[in-house]
Amino acid sequence: HMPTAELQAIDAAHHMHPFTDGAELAAKGARIITRAKGVMLTDSEGEEILDGMAGLWCVNIGYGREEMAEVAARQMRELPFYNTFFQTSHVPAIALAQRIAELAPGDLNHVFFASGGSDANDTNLRLVRHYWAAKGKPSKTVVISRKNAYHGSTMAGASLGGMGGMHAQGGLPIPGIVHINQPHWYAEGGEMSPEEFGLARARELEAKIAELGEDNVAAFIAEPIQGAGGVIIPPETYWPEIQRICDAHEILLIADEVICGFGRTGNWFGSQTLGIRPHIMTVAKGLSSGYVPIGASIVWDEVADTVARAGDFNHGYTYSGHPVSCAVALENLRIIEEEQLIENVATGTGPYLKEKWEQLADHPLVGEAHTRGFMGTLALTPDKARRAPFEAAEGTVGLICRGHCFKGNLVMRHVGDRMIIAPPLIFQKSDVDLLIERAVKALDLTLAEIKDKGLYK
Ligand code: PMP
Repeated sequence: HMPTAELQAIDAAHHMHPFTDGAELAAKGARIITRAKGVMLTDSEGEEILDGMAGLWCVNIGYGREEMAEVAARQMRELPFYNTFFQTSHVPAIALAQRIAELAPGDLNHVFFASGGSDANDTNLRLVRHYWAAKGKPSKTVVISRKNAYHGSTMAGASLGGMGGMHAQGGLPIPGIVHINQPHWYAEGGEMSPEEFGLARARELEAKIAELGEDNVAAFIAEPIQGAGGVIIPPETYWPEIQRICDAHEILLIADEVICGFGRTGNWFGSQTLGIRPHIMTVAKGLSSGYVPIGASIVWDEVADTVARAGDFNHGYTYSGHPVSCAVALENLRIIEEEQLIENVATGTGPYLKEKWEQLADHPLVGEAHTRGFMGTLALTPDKARRAPFEAAEGTVGLICRGHCFKGNLVMRHVGDRMIIAPPLIFQKSDVDLLIERAVKALDLTLAEIKDKGLYK
């Protein structure tokens, strides 16, 4: 390939990046990733980078799997595309829908395919409103989401989101979507115990339903564990209370499993780990380990049957149930099962990762460090006892730390001043050791730099 500088110049001239951090990108240029194998990325300079984020929370089976390439090639030769609109179907979509229905808990037996998580959440919004209309309750339209959530980048997806100011761009949210607070004890719990705080935050849902009138509320949507918002692991009291409130007020519960789904929390679904009984689950990323674009809504029998009885559901994407995507996703699920990757998260590498990661809390810069399955989070702070934020603008120190990780060949993300990981589910103990070694080095360099700049007081 061309020299790195040339690639970067063309990238800067013609490629509009999603989610830029403009100044950083302009100053340093993009790091060009050329190849990947297992848990390691290779860049255009030949550097090997440990991927602590599984791509974008998705490459669960690791990179460079021949089986996946072969299934894709075979399916492309046999039937590269056909639609599933109106009265046609095909074997890959049928087989994948059946497998997902087998894996999904309870009466979640119907699958509507999308191209990713954002559009699957758009589907969910139309689906729940259409459902309530079919039930003779057309006023039930409002969807309640949470501040600091991430549910995608379409108009509806971004409206459901609420991270900082970024989701407001473009004049959002669209009407009919409201937000309550998140169960983020470390940042917002004040003097309350985590248990008290979890209950208080869950009861904001009940208060919001009362304010809007339950005849106007269609659904509540949330991730079992918030991912992009900073891996916010909710207090134990939170989800049981949310479940009670949804059941008591006839509110559909949508679990966004785009990150948590397919093993990341140590079960097939995060809803199982957190004890949630959703009516709809959104899935994407881990469904194909990111090898091909695909998403889906997994739908409760009662919702799917009601919608079907009501007549036509005038909704679908050209790539709904794309044959290559479905065939590759099915192979991905086979690999997860055969290689017992969920067991690796639950009882293999997962407990070792937890032990090592939580020791990072001893670092002078770290206020808390936790994992749940293969999701890890740590809070950077100048004052552990008070869980205090830095005086510098939120995210300043996080960005510095991310920079040191990246320079030290570790992908770890920052969300404000939290550092997060979501490694591939194939991670072994030796990978954990390397991750921790590089993370500690980056934390040390970050501490030195912020002391130097007068940001650590
Ligand atoms: N929901 C959640 C919880 C996500 O993390 C994401 C992607 N980060 C999405 C939805 C959107 O999925 P996609 O980017 O595939 O549209």
